[in-house]
Amino acid sequence: MPVKQSEFFVSNSDPAKCPKPDRPEYAFIGRSNVGKSSLINMLTGRNSLAKISGKPGKTQLINHFIIDNDWYLVDLPGYGYAQVSKTDREKFAALIDGYLTGRPNLLCIFVLVDSRIEPQKIDLDFMENLGDRGLPFVIVFTKTEKLGPTKLQAAIDNYRARLLESWEEVPELFVTSAVTAVGREDILSFIRPLNEEFWQNEKAKRKY
Ligand code: GDP
Repeated sequence: MPVKQSEFFVSNSDPAKCPKPDRPEYAFIGRSNVGKSSLINMLTGRNSLAKISGKPGKTQLINHFIIDNDWYLVDLPGYGYAQVSKTDREKFAALIDGYLTGRPNLLCIFVLVDSRIEPQKIDLDFMENLGDRGLPFVIVFTKTEKLGPTKLQAAIDNYRARLLESWEEVPELFVTSAVTAVGREDILSFIRPLNEEFWQNEKAKRKY
């Protein structure tokens, strides 16, 4: 079932000002230029809900979108620009850290990686950090229409093998393309039951 309604909700530079954590939330993050905005637009069926990056390194904001009046999709700033100063990197780390520690409604983090590029230390370190905090995450392969089936499978196998060096189990990996919309239904079908569980838990809480 596609997304019916998606709206921009709020942007924040201060994680403490994010909306009340009263509905299920999913965050999208990855290196600058990984295809995050394109993926968000593809998932929501909106051409320009998230801004396709002209220039990396712009203001770092946490963007909340509200989807089907039911859940939050969060566009987190991209990491790993070559040209940012140490101060900006520290600001970024504080922003993400503040966000990740302050969202009890955060049900899953989608870590985007470019399917055409070898596993990068910065992504693996970020996943490690999520693991240390006990935060659930999945991996999203982007731009996969650029690879043929054989190369894509090799890239998936390679990524999994790399993760198995430090993880006992490999997190779920979604194959996507913003160009062909591959992966849209897979991601939305992953999110829906988590939303249902969230609302059921909320209902149960209200009974007591
Ligand atoms: P962001 O910086 O992570 O938000 O990345 P963008 O969504 O702005 O995309 C960065 C560049 O990759 C743009 O030129 C996009 O057109 C391109 N791009 C994004 N997704 C895809 C995809 O699925 N396939 C292809 N071929 N290009 C993509």
